[in-house]
Amino acid sequence: MALLVKKFGGTSVGDITKIKNIASSICQSKEAGNEIVVVVSAMGQTTDDLNCLAEAISKNPNRRELDMLLSTGEQVTIALLSMALNEYGIPAISMTGSQVGIITESIHGKARILDIKTERIHNYINQGFVVVVAGFQGTTLSHTGSMEITTLGRGGSDTSAVALSTALGAETCEIYTDVPGVLTTDPRIVRNAKLLDEISCEEMLELASVGASVLHPRAVEIARNYGIKLYVKSSQSVSSGTLLESQIQPLPLKRGSLELTKTVNSLEVLENQVVFSLSNIPDRPGIAAQIFEKLSEANINVDLIIQATNDGNNNDITFTVSESEVNKTAEQCELITSQLGGEYNLKTNMTKLSIQGAGIMGRPSVSADLFDTLSQANINVRLIATSEIKVSCVIEINNIPKAIRFVAEKFKLSDTQIFVNPIKEKQDKPEVRGIALDKNQVQVSFRKLPDRPGVAASICLALAENNLLFDTIVQSERISSSKTKDISFTMNKQDREKANLVFETLTMKLPGSYIEDGPAIAKVSTVGAGMAFKVGTAGKIFRALADQDINIEMIATSEIRTSCIVLEKDCDKAVNAIHNHFKLEK
Ligand code: ASP
Ligand code: MG
Repeated sequence: MALLVKKFGGTSVGDITKIKNIASSICQSKEAGNEIVVVVSAMGQTTDDLNCLAEAISKNPNRRELDMLLSTGEQVTIALLSMALNEYGIPAISMTGSQVGIITESIHGKARILDIKTERIHNYINQGFVVVVAGFQGTTLSHTGSMEITTLGRGGSDTSAVALSTALGAETCEIYTDVPGVLTTDPRIVRNAKLLDEISCEEMLELASVGASVLHPRAVEIARNYGIKLYVKSSQSVSSGTLLESQIQPLPLKRGSLELTKTVNSLEVLENQVVFSLSNIPDRPGIAAQIFEKLSEANINVDLIIQATNDGNNNDITFTVSESEVNKTAEQCELITSQLGGEYNLKTNMTKLSIQGAGIMGRPSVSADLFDTLSQANINVRLIATSEIKVSCVIEINNIPKAIRFVAEKFKLSDTQIFVNPIKEKQDKPEVRGIALDKNQVQVSFRKLPDRPGVAASICLALAENNLLFDTIVQSERISSSKTKDISFTMNKQDREKANLVFETLTMKLPGSYIEDGPAIAKVSTVGAGMAFKVGTAGKIFRALADQDINIEMIATSEIRTSCIVLEKDCDKAVNAIHNHFKLEK
């Protein structure tokens, strides 16, 4: 007998007919011999409607009262679904988050789950009941010791379901929604986007803008940490949906901190890296493609790739390879620069240091903290590239012991979370799983920054302190002006204006530097766990864009993701081009 947790989202329980249909499908699964715990959302747009009611009374409603109000949405659904199950002759009982004992932090509106009591649920299951639990809500003890209702944040019932699966030790967790599962990309952009049979949790997190609309990222993080077998399926059809798999060794369940409040999960250090910088190469579509195709033909596996904004008509592209490839790579760079113009240099004895964690997502203060920590250790950061769940930088090898000490202490990482030169099992995963698109972004560059420790930190800290979200930070090497460096990043269009004051203060503090605004851009992120092990993926991505005459404004990579910043007008074309090139269509 298997214990299954099934979660049904708002649209799947949108009206009485749908609730009855769901009850009937639960009935079948129960009769097949399964033990079932159901988690539901509020019906249809209920949560939005409740929010509107609150807003009609107050622009800034009391957070406790707002949670009191919003939690009623799910309470309606649990009662109705239990009644429907009873009608089918299935014993069922509804429970609120408080009744179950879904214990959360004492924060209204975005509480994280600390623990889930399982006795009551297990009791009912043993008596043959289907237990119907309200998603999105929990309970906490206030500072006065009295019990309070909390909510987990919009979309939070996915998180309730996966957390319950963890606490109950369920066989699988099935999330039923109004889409067939996780698709290769947004079907509004690519008509023949394909349903994925499987995807790793890491890939799902890196595909944030595609993935987050399907599944709450916090739910993915819990599944990843505890190795929960998580399915995303359509509530309308019988297709098997998408299976999300964790790639890490599952953590033991820590009662009292179920949803780890730590933002950074691991620190990885890769020694013996060589940084190659190509400078003053032409800036036109097809150049990046040519370069990385050449490297791929020579069977060179490139790791980080960074291209900051162009300097007039020229471009700089920086990348890293492992020391064993240095001669081969130098030969190719010689060839490339003789054909394209420009020059190259290389620096040996470099090390890549990366922090990783789902908690990095949407929290730019984490990269700020990393750079600040390195600067306090008086370590100069040579290259930077960030993705959704990873911040990577390149530093000199002799700084490594100090860097590990400082970073581990800052993010409270134990020895088991620190990986130096990890040997990675070659995985037989696709080099490209899916493509995410982030629109409404602009590109901003700090030019001619002094090249000393603490500069990246001061910029990121100032932005984070002012609640300005930024992303895709890129810092590459420049040969021509070796005393200065440039840092580029992307930010939301709306945030750009608000940043004026911060930028002014910063450029005053960093003498000689100035801000350069780029055009409206979009970020196209290609994600696949197999790309780390495959030679030439980046070259193919750049080729797909070049064939459509799309210029790449900026490049930042992590192990499983290659992000290209392109002009906003080109973005749909870019996603389609990459999707076609890798034959991801149905
Ligand atoms: N009802 C909540 C919301 O609409 C939680 C959820 O549906 O996941 O955000
Ligand atoms: Mg949802």
